[in-house]
Amino acid sequence: MSLFSEKKSFFGRLSEKISDAIMLRASVDEDLMDELEEILITSDIGMDTTMTIMEELRKNIKNNNITEPARVTGALKEIMTGLVDKGERQKLSQEKPLVVLVIGINGGGKTTTIGKLAYKCRKEGRTVMLAAAEQLVIWGQRNNVNVIKHKEGADPSAVVYDAIQSAKAKGIDVLICDTAGRLQNKKNLMDELEKMNRVIDREFPEAARETLLVLDATTGKNAVSQAQEFGNVTDITGIVLTKLDGTAKGGIAVTVADQFDMPIKFIGVGEGIEDLKEFVPEEFIGGIFDE
Ligand code: GDP
Ligand code: MG
Repeated sequence: MSLFSEKKSFFGRLSEKISDAIMLRASVDEDLMDELEEILITSDIGMDTTMTIMEELRKNIKNNNITEPARVTGALKEIMTGLVDKGERQKLSQEKPLVVLVIGINGGGKTTTIGKLAYKCRKEGRTVMLAAAEQLVIWGQRNNVNVIKHKEGADPSAVVYDAIQSAKAKGIDVLICDTAGRLQNKKNLMDELEKMNRVIDREFPEAARETLLVLDATTGKNAVSQAQEFGNVTDITGIVLTKLDGTAKGGIAVTVADQFDMPIKFIGVGEGIEDLKEFVPEEFIGGIFDE
């Protein structure tokens, strides 16, 4: 079953447009190339990434002597899969103990993602603890995992500090830390993340680390500039692309994967606890074409 079965989805639309364009052509010519380029650009894939894809496509068509329009789809699929595929880095670290810092602007889906991720890790047999944000208490209860929190407005690093002591004492496998997403003040954000990183490095040097950036797919190009901004202030090991259910903006996954050396690790496809899927390049891109 497709994750993106809704008619309005990015995949439905893009796949339809591409097959329409191809069906109408008798040969692989410049008109077809122009039309494909136009389709990609208007599907939120962005100018730079579209140019990269088209350049690869031209090479591929030439090298493989592709003359039938129908074969262009296969080539396009291969190129786009190659762009989003970052190999083994795609998976969340299996090391123990592991500290996962979740960052991103407010409203993007950090807290929800943490709840879903806790569920996922528990299902894999890992023990989990959550740090911070009030709302996390609810997700903690849903998952039956401990949540370390302070009063509202408390220093996030102090919460992380406490959570680390508790996680160490209990021998927890995965500690997931929520953060505040104030991007309006870059200096503050940088200081806060730096401080958290320092506390984790100092108090939990034996722990493996992940820093996941949560991006709301429905914000389209904004997601790209957020990846840029957050990437400038801290090392990001993976991206979680949320709200891919029922959005026509899935093309952003291709753009983000092309423009940043950050693997997309998970996609959010709903508000429920099970609505976090591992990002599988072939499956994701396949969804565009296999209608
Ligand atoms: P935070 O401010 O980054 O912590 O964002 P929240 O986790 O509070 O999420 C903001 C809103 O987005 C909430 O209403 C969530 O239910 C919703 N949300 C988060 N992830 C998804 C998703 O994958 N799909 C949909 N449809 N909604 C989501
Ligand atoms: Mg939150």
